Amino acid sequence: MNFTVQHAKEWLIHTNEKIQENKQVLTKLDQAIGDGDHGINMARGFQELIQIINEKEYEHVSDILKEAAMTILSKVGGAAGPLYGTGFLRLSLALKGKEFVDYPLLVKGLKSAVNGIKQRGKVVLGEKTLVDVWEPVVEKMAQTEEAYPNKMIDTAKAAMEKTKELMATKGRGAYFKEKSIGHIDPGAMSSYYVFSALAEVLQGGQL
Ligand code: ADP
Ligand code: MG
Repeated sequence: MNFTVQHAKEWLIHTNEKIQENKQVLTKLDQAIGDGDHGINMARGFQELIQIINEKEYEHVSDILKEAAMTILSKVGGAAGPLYGTGFLRLSLALKGKEFVDYPLLVKGLKSAVNGIKQRGKVVLGEKTLVDVWEPVVEKMAQTEEAYPNKMIDTAKAAMEKTKELMATKGRGAYFKEKSIGHIDPGAMSSYYVFSALAEVLQGGQL
C-alpha cells in the first residue's frame, strides 16, 4: 500500500479536527510561555487549508502537501507558520514527481522536513520547541521498514510531555527563562496532534 493523495488529505483533515477541538488547550499553553495566539494561529490556518483542499483535486502527494505548505506559510502566522510551512514544503519537495510514496520514502521526506525546521528555526533538540516532537517521532519511524502507528503515538506523546521539564531557549518561551519550566511547549502539543493524526491515517492501512 502507498501513501496516496487521499491519505495526505485525511492526514490534514484529522490534524485540523484535533487543532479545532483543542484550540483552547493550545491557547492556554501559549498564554503560559508565549503570547496566547498559537491556538488561534493554527486553527485559522488549518481551517483555511481544509477549505482549499476540499475544493481541489491533486495529482500527486507532493501537490497537496505543497498546497498545505503554502497555506500554512501565509495563513498560520506567528513563529509556527514559517516553521510548519517549511516542514511541509520540505516534505513536499522530497516527494516531488513520485507516483507512489511508500513508507520509507515518506520517512525520508519527514527527515528532510525536520532538517528544514531546524535550519529555519536555528534550533536543535532540547530547546523546548516543536522540534522536540518532530525529531524523536521521525527517528522512531525510521527504525522500521513499515509503519507502527501505536509506537508513533506513544513516542509523540512522551516527547510532547517531556518538553514540560525543559527550559525554552528559542522563540517567545525563551523570554520566560527558568519560568518556562513546568509548562508543555505549545508547538510540541500541536505537533503531537499532527503526528497522532498521521498515525491514525497509517493505521487505516499498513504501508
Ligand atoms: P509566536 O511565538 O510568534 O506567537 P506561535 O505562538 O504560533 O508563534 O508558536 C509558538 C511555537 O513555535 C512555540 O511553542 C515553539 O514550539 C515554536 N517555535 C518558536 N520559535 C521557534 C524556533 N526558533 N524554532 C523552532 N520552533 C520554534
Ligand atoms: Mg504565540
